[in-house]
Amino acid sequence: MPAMTTQPRSTRCIPDRAAAPSPADGPMIALDDVAKAYGGRWVLEPTTIAVFRGTTTVLIGPSGCGKSTLLRMIVGLVAPDRGTVTIAGRRLDAGSVSDLRRRIGYVIQDGGLFPHLTGRDNVGLLARHLGWEPPRITARITELADLTRLPAAALDRFPSQLSGGQRQRLGIMRALMLDPAALLLDEPMAALDPLVRYDLQEDLRRIFRATGKTVVMVTHDMGEAGFFGDEVLLLGAGRVVQRGTLDDLIHAPADEFVRRFVSAQRFPGLSGGEGRNAS
Ligand code: ADP
Ligand code: MG
Repeated sequence: MPAMTTQPRSTRCIPDRAAAPSPADGPMIALDDVAKAYGGRWVLEPTTIAVFRGTTTVLIGPSGCGKSTLLRMIVGLVAPDRGTVTIAGRRLDAGSVSDLRRRIGYVIQDGGLFPHLTGRDNVGLLARHLGWEPPRITARITELADLTRLPAAALDRFPSQLSGGQRQRLGIMRALMLDPAALLLDEPMAALDPLVRYDLQEDLRRIFRATGKTVVMVTHDMGEAGFFGDEVLLLGAGRVVQRGTLDDLIHAPADEFVRRFVSAQRFPGLSGGEGRNAS
Protein backbone atom coordinates (compact mmCIF):
# COMPACT_ATOMS: atom_id res chain seq x y z
CA MET A 1 0.00 0.00 0.00
CA PRO A 2 2.73 2.60 0.71
CA ALA A 3 3.60 2.60 -3.00
CA MET A 4 0.07 3.81 -3.73
CA THR A 5 0.57 7.08 -1.85
CA THR A 6 2.47 8.50 -4.84
CA GLN A 7 -0.52 7.91 -7.12
CA PRO A 8 -2.97 10.74 -7.83
CA ARG A 9 -6.14 10.35 -5.83
CA SER A 10 -8.37 10.64 -8.87
CA THR A 11 -8.81 7.43 -10.84
CA ARG A 12 -9.67 9.19 -14.05
CA CYS A 13 -7.19 9.41 -16.93
CA ILE A 14 -4.54 11.94 -16.02
CA PRO A 15 -2.71 13.49 -18.97
CA ASP A 16 1.07 13.03 -19.07
CA ARG A 17 2.07 16.64 -18.78
CA ALA A 18 -0.87 18.16 -16.92
CA ALA A 19 -1.34 18.28 -13.18
CA ALA A 20 -4.17 16.18 -11.79
CA PRO A 21 -7.38 18.16 -12.21
CA SER A 22 -8.60 19.61 -8.98
CA PRO A 23 -11.79 21.55 -8.31
CA ALA A 24 -9.56 24.07 -6.49
CA ASP A 25 -8.13 25.11 -9.91
CA GLY A 26 -11.62 26.16 -10.98
CA PRO A 27 -13.07 24.76 -14.18
CA MET A 28 -11.38 25.50 -17.50
CA ILE A 29 -14.85 25.80 -19.06
CA ALA A 30 -17.92 26.77 -17.06
CA LEU A 31 -21.40 27.03 -18.50
CA ASP A 32 -23.72 28.54 -15.93
CA ASP A 33 -27.44 28.30 -16.62
CA VAL A 34 -26.97 28.83 -20.38
CA ALA A 35 -29.95 28.44 -22.69
CA LYS A 36 -30.70 29.06 -26.36
CA ALA A 37 -33.93 29.43 -28.30
CA TYR A 38 -34.46 29.60 -32.05
CA GLY A 39 -37.79 30.78 -33.43
CA GLY A 40 -39.41 30.71 -30.00
CA ARG A 41 -38.35 27.11 -29.32
CA TRP A 42 -35.74 26.17 -26.74
CA VAL A 43 -33.06 24.13 -28.48
CA LEU A 44 -31.00 24.19 -25.28
CA GLU A 45 -32.78 24.40 -21.93
CA PRO A 46 -30.98 26.04 -18.97
CA THR A 47 -27.80 24.01 -18.56
CA THR A 48 -24.90 24.17 -16.10
CA ILE A 49 -21.68 22.30 -16.91
CA ALA A 50 -18.11 22.51 -15.55
CA VAL A 51 -15.19 21.02 -17.46
CA PHE A 52 -11.95 20.69 -15.49
CA ARG A 53 -8.43 21.14 -16.79
CA GLY A 54 -6.86 18.22 -18.61
CA THR A 55 -10.08 16.19 -18.77
CA THR A 56 -12.10 14.99 -21.74
CA THR A 57 -15.86 15.49 -21.69
CA VAL A 58 -17.95 13.85 -24.40
CA LEU A 59 -21.36 15.14 -25.50
CA ILE A 60 -23.51 12.46 -27.04
CA GLY A 61 -27.15 12.31 -28.08
CA PRO A 62 -29.47 12.00 -31.05
CA SER A 63 -29.35 14.36 -34.00
CA GLY A 64 -30.84 17.77 -33.25
CA CYS A 65 -30.60 17.52 -29.45
CA GLY A 66 -28.37 20.61 -29.16
CA LYS A 67 -24.82 19.19 -29.04
CA SER A 68 -23.36 21.50 -31.69
CA THR A 69 -25.22 24.49 -30.26
CA LEU A 70 -23.63 23.82 -26.87
CA LEU A 71 -20.17 23.49 -28.40
CA ARG A 72 -20.60 26.61 -30.54
CA MET A 73 -21.61 28.50 -27.39
CA ILE A 74 -18.27 27.60 -25.76
CA VAL A 75 -16.38 28.79 -28.85
CA GLY A 76 -18.36 32.04 -28.86
CA LEU A 77 -20.02 31.36 -32.23
CA VAL A 78 -23.48 31.24 -30.63
CA ALA A 79 -24.46 33.71 -27.91
CA PRO A 80 -26.63 32.25 -25.14
CA ASP A 81 -30.03 33.89 -24.55
CA ARG A 82 -29.38 33.59 -20.83
CA GLY A 83 -26.63 32.44 -18.52
CA THR A 84 -22.86 32.84 -18.80
CA VAL A 85 -19.90 31.06 -20.35
CA THR A 86 -16.55 31.36 -18.55
CA ILE A 87 -13.25 30.18 -20.07
CA ALA A 88 -10.20 29.91 -17.79
CA GLY A 89 -11.88 32.21 -15.29
CA ARG A 90 -12.72 34.87 -17.87
CA ARG A 91 -16.29 35.58 -18.88
CA LEU A 92 -17.07 35.22 -22.57
CA ASP A 93 -18.75 38.38 -23.85
CA ALA A 94 -18.51 40.82 -26.75
CA GLY A 95 -15.32 42.32 -25.31
CA SER A 96 -13.48 39.04 -24.71
CA VAL A 97 -14.77 36.81 -27.49
CA SER A 98 -12.07 37.36 -30.12
CA ASP A 99 -9.30 36.92 -27.56
CA LEU A 100 -10.86 33.85 -25.95
CA ARG A 101 -11.59 32.27 -29.33
CA ARG A 102 -7.85 32.15 -29.96
CA ARG A 103 -7.45 30.17 -26.77
CA ILE A 104 -9.85 27.49 -28.01
CA GLY A 105 -9.09 25.06 -30.82
CA TYR A 106 -12.21 24.07 -32.74
CA VAL A 107 -12.42 21.07 -35.09
CA ILE A 108 -15.49 20.29 -37.19
CA GLN A 109 -16.55 17.16 -39.05
CA ASP A 110 -14.91 17.70 -42.44
CA GLY A 111 -11.92 19.64 -41.10
CA GLY A 112 -13.26 22.96 -42.38
CA LEU A 113 -10.10 23.69 -44.40
CA PHE A 114 -9.96 26.45 -47.00
CA PRO A 115 -9.86 24.66 -50.37
CA HIS A 116 -7.62 27.27 -52.05
CA LEU A 117 -4.86 27.01 -49.41
CA THR A 118 -2.31 24.21 -49.00
CA GLY A 119 -2.31 22.20 -45.80
CA ARG A 120 0.60 24.24 -44.51
CA ASP A 121 -1.10 27.55 -45.27
CA ASN A 122 -4.36 26.38 -43.67
CA VAL A 123 -2.55 25.41 -40.48
CA GLY A 124 -0.44 28.58 -40.33
CA LEU A 125 -3.13 31.08 -41.34
CA LEU A 126 -3.95 32.51 -37.93
CA ALA A 127 -0.34 32.53 -36.69
CA ARG A 128 0.62 34.50 -39.82
CA HIS A 129 -2.24 36.89 -39.20
CA LEU A 130 -0.95 37.37 -35.63
CA GLY A 131 2.50 38.25 -36.97
CA TRP A 132 4.50 35.15 -36.06
CA GLU A 133 7.89 35.03 -37.79
CA PRO A 134 8.04 32.46 -40.65
CA PRO A 135 10.68 30.23 -38.95
CA ARG A 136 8.51 29.98 -35.84
CA ILE A 137 5.50 29.03 -37.97
CA THR A 138 7.51 26.39 -39.86
CA ALA A 139 8.88 24.91 -36.63
CA ARG A 140 5.44 24.72 -35.03
CA ILE A 141 3.93 23.10 -38.14
CA THR A 142 6.72 20.51 -38.23
CA GLU A 143 6.14 19.74 -34.55
CA LEU A 144 2.39 19.37 -35.08
CA ALA A 145 2.77 17.19 -38.21
CA ASP A 146 4.91 14.91 -36.08
CA LEU A 147 2.37 14.92 -33.25
CA THR A 148 -0.56 14.13 -35.57
CA ARG A 149 1.48 11.72 -37.74
CA LEU A 150 0.73 13.69 -40.92
CA PRO A 151 3.16 12.82 -43.73
CA ALA A 152 5.32 15.86 -44.54
CA ALA A 153 4.34 15.71 -48.23
CA ALA A 154 0.70 16.30 -47.31
CA LEU A 155 1.54 19.74 -45.98
CA ASP A 156 2.12 21.15 -49.44
CA ARG A 157 -0.99 19.69 -51.05
CA PHE A 158 -4.43 21.25 -51.32
CA PRO A 159 -7.32 19.73 -49.33
CA SER A 160 -8.86 18.13 -52.44
CA GLN A 161 -5.58 16.22 -53.01
CA LEU A 162 -5.68 14.66 -49.54
CA SER A 163 -7.54 11.76 -47.93
CA GLY A 164 -10.28 12.41 -45.38
CA GLY A 165 -8.00 11.29 -42.56
CA GLN A 166 -5.21 13.61 -43.69
CA ARG A 167 -7.64 16.53 -43.97
CA GLN A 168 -8.82 15.87 -40.45
CA ARG A 169 -5.24 15.65 -39.16
CA LEU A 170 -4.68 19.09 -40.71
CA GLY A 171 -7.86 20.33 -39.04
CA ILE A 172 -6.48 19.14 -35.70
CA MET A 173 -3.09 20.74 -36.40
CA ARG A 174 -4.80 24.03 -37.20
CA ALA A 175 -6.79 23.84 -33.97
CA LEU A 176 -3.60 23.20 -31.96
CA MET A 177 -1.41 25.76 -33.76
CA LEU A 178 -1.68 28.51 -31.12
CA ASP A 179 -1.42 25.98 -28.26
CA PRO A 180 -4.97 26.66 -27.06
CA ALA A 181 -6.17 26.11 -23.52
CA ALA A 182 -9.01 23.89 -24.71
CA LEU A 183 -9.84 21.79 -27.73
CA LEU A 184 -13.45 21.39 -28.92
CA LEU A 185 -14.29 18.79 -31.55
CA ASP A 186 -17.68 18.39 -33.23
CA GLU A 187 -18.02 14.84 -34.59
CA PRO A 188 -14.44 14.94 -35.88
CA MET A 189 -14.49 11.35 -37.13
CA ALA A 190 -18.05 11.01 -38.39
CA ALA A 191 -17.06 11.30 -42.07
CA LEU A 192 -14.19 8.77 -41.94
CA ASP A 193 -14.28 5.10 -42.85
CA PRO A 194 -13.84 2.66 -39.95
CA LEU A 195 -10.12 1.87 -40.36
CA VAL A 196 -9.11 5.51 -40.80
CA ARG A 197 -11.36 6.41 -37.88
CA TYR A 198 -9.77 3.76 -35.69
CA ASP A 199 -6.26 5.09 -36.37
CA LEU A 200 -7.29 8.68 -35.78
CA GLN A 201 -9.06 7.76 -32.52
CA GLU A 202 -5.85 6.19 -31.23
CA ASP A 203 -3.81 9.20 -32.31
CA LEU A 204 -6.25 11.72 -30.90
CA ARG A 205 -6.35 10.08 -27.48
CA ARG A 206 -2.56 10.02 -27.42
CA ILE A 207 -2.50 13.72 -28.42
CA PHE A 208 -5.03 14.67 -25.71
CA ARG A 209 -2.92 12.93 -23.08
CA ALA A 210 0.45 14.16 -24.35
CA THR A 211 -0.66 17.79 -24.53
CA GLY A 212 -2.81 17.75 -21.39
CA LYS A 213 -5.54 19.67 -23.21
CA THR A 214 -8.99 20.21 -21.80
CA VAL A 215 -11.23 18.57 -24.40
CA VAL A 216 -14.93 18.66 -25.20
CA MET A 217 -15.91 16.30 -28.00
CA VAL A 218 -19.25 15.64 -29.67
CA THR A 219 -19.95 12.18 -31.04
CA HIS A 220 -22.89 10.00 -32.05
CA ASP A 221 -21.06 6.87 -31.11
CA MET A 222 -21.16 5.26 -27.66
CA GLY A 223 -17.95 3.29 -28.23
CA GLU A 224 -16.14 6.50 -29.12
CA ALA A 225 -17.66 8.24 -26.08
CA GLY A 226 -16.32 5.52 -23.81
CA PHE A 227 -12.93 5.52 -25.51
CA PHE A 228 -12.36 9.24 -24.96
CA GLY A 229 -14.60 10.45 -22.17
CA ASP A 230 -13.60 10.93 -18.55
CA GLU A 231 -17.19 12.10 -18.34
CA VAL A 232 -20.02 11.50 -20.80
CA LEU A 233 -23.02 13.83 -21.03
CA LEU A 234 -26.04 12.38 -22.78
CA LEU A 235 -28.28 15.09 -24.23
CA GLY A 236 -31.87 14.64 -25.28
CA ALA A 237 -34.11 17.38 -26.71
CA GLY A 238 -32.01 20.27 -25.47
CA ARG A 239 -31.12 19.10 -21.98
CA VAL A 240 -28.53 16.93 -20.26
CA VAL A 241 -30.43 13.77 -19.39
CA GLN A 242 -27.55 11.91 -17.71
CA ARG A 243 -23.91 12.52 -16.96
CA GLY A 244 -21.34 10.05 -15.72
CA THR A 245 -19.12 7.37 -17.13
CA LEU A 246 -20.19 5.28 -20.10
CA ASP A 247 -20.63 2.44 -17.63
CA ASP A 248 -23.13 4.52 -15.64
CA LEU A 249 -25.15 5.14 -18.81
CA ILE A 250 -25.15 1.46 -19.73
CA HIS A 251 -25.69 -0.10 -16.33
CA ALA A 252 -27.61 2.61 -14.47
CA PRO A 253 -29.64 4.48 -17.11
CA ALA A 254 -31.42 7.48 -15.58
CA ASP A 255 -34.62 6.92 -17.52
CA GLU A 256 -36.27 5.23 -20.45
CA PHE A 257 -34.72 7.65 -22.96
CA VAL A 258 -31.19 6.72 -21.83
CA ARG A 259 -32.08 3.03 -21.89
CA ARG A 260 -33.41 3.34 -25.45
CA PHE A 261 -30.45 5.41 -26.64
CA VAL A 262 -27.97 2.88 -25.24
CA SER A 263 -29.90 -0.09 -26.62
CA ALA A 264 -30.01 1.45 -30.09
CA GLN A 265 -26.18 1.38 -30.31
CA ARG A 266 -24.31 -1.62 -31.57
CA PHE A 267 -20.97 -2.28 -29.99
CA PRO A 268 -19.41 -5.37 -28.44
CA GLY A 269 -19.74 -5.23 -24.64
CA LEU A 270 -23.30 -4.01 -24.91
CA SER A 271 -24.79 -7.48 -25.18
CA GLY A 272 -24.83 -7.82 -21.37
CA GLY A 273 -26.66 -4.51 -21.08
CA GLU A 274 -29.23 -5.58 -23.64
CA GLY A 275 -29.85 -8.76 -21.69
CA ARG A 276 -30.54 -6.73 -18.57
CA ASN A 277 -32.74 -4.30 -20.45
CA ALA A 278 -34.86 -7.12 -21.76
CA SER A 279 -35.59 -8.48 -18.30
P1 ADP B 1 -27.03 18.47 -32.83
O1 ADP B 1 -25.66 18.99 -33.01
O2 ADP B 1 -27.25 17.77 -31.53
O3 ADP B 1 -27.47 17.61 -33.98
P2 ADP B 1 -27.81 21.25 -33.06
O4 ADP B 1 -27.23 21.89 -31.86
O5 ADP B 1 -27.13 21.45 -34.36
O6 ADP B 1 -28.05 19.70 -32.78
O7 ADP B 1 -29.30 21.78 -33.24
C1 ADP B 1 -30.26 21.72 -32.20
C2 ADP B 1 -31.58 22.27 -32.71
O8 ADP B 1 -31.44 23.63 -32.97
C3 ADP B 1 -32.03 21.60 -34.01
O9 ADP B 1 -33.42 21.47 -33.97
C4 ADP B 1 -31.60 22.62 -35.05
O10 ADP B 1 -32.44 22.54 -36.17
C5 ADP B 1 -31.79 23.94 -34.31
N1 ADP B 1 -30.87 24.97 -34.77
C6 ADP B 1 -29.51 24.93 -34.67
N2 ADP B 1 -28.97 26.05 -35.17
C7 ADP B 1 -30.00 26.83 -35.59
C8 ADP B 1 -30.08 28.12 -36.19
N3 ADP B 1 -29.00 28.87 -36.45
N4 ADP B 1 -31.32 28.59 -36.48
C9 ADP B 1 -32.43 27.87 -36.20
N5 ADP B 1 -32.42 26.65 -35.64
C10 ADP B 1 -31.21 26.13 -35.33
MG1 MG C 1 -24.25 18.65 -34.55
